[in-house]
Amino acid sequence: MPNISYGLRDNIVYKKLSAHLKEIAMNRRKGFTLIELLIVVLILGALAAIAIPKIATSTSTAKDNACKTNVDIMNSQIEMYYANTGAYPADYDAFFTNATYFPEGRPVCPFGTAYVVTSDRVVSHSH
Ligand SMILES: [Zn+2]
Repeated sequence: MPNISYGLRDNIVYKKLSAHLKEIAMNRRKGFTLIELLIVVLILGALAAIAIPKIATSTSTAKDNACKTNVDIMNSQIEMYYANTGAYPADYDAFFTNATYFPEGRPVCPFGTAYVVTSDRVVSHSH
């Protein structure tokens, strides 16, 4: 008597059902569900809420440092003029546009505040 054993995997019904289930599973994963998209949007929103204020703060700090550097450069160039000529500039508007001392043009406050000269010194200001 031949020993014939039909396992579950050899069953024609099993094969058809298995193929059908695979097809359903493949068709199901064509896109994201609304819940998945909402979760992604919420995560991105949380990251943006953390990152944007830090970027804004660092931009403000950079502008503040640029302004302080401008004041230091202007005062140092005033001293350079004094060392070269033995006198402080008579007209600071003309001096700040003098290409010998300011080859890149008159320094401008990044916040738009005007620089004020008092007693031959550019006074630092806050914004
Ligand atoms: Zn400034």
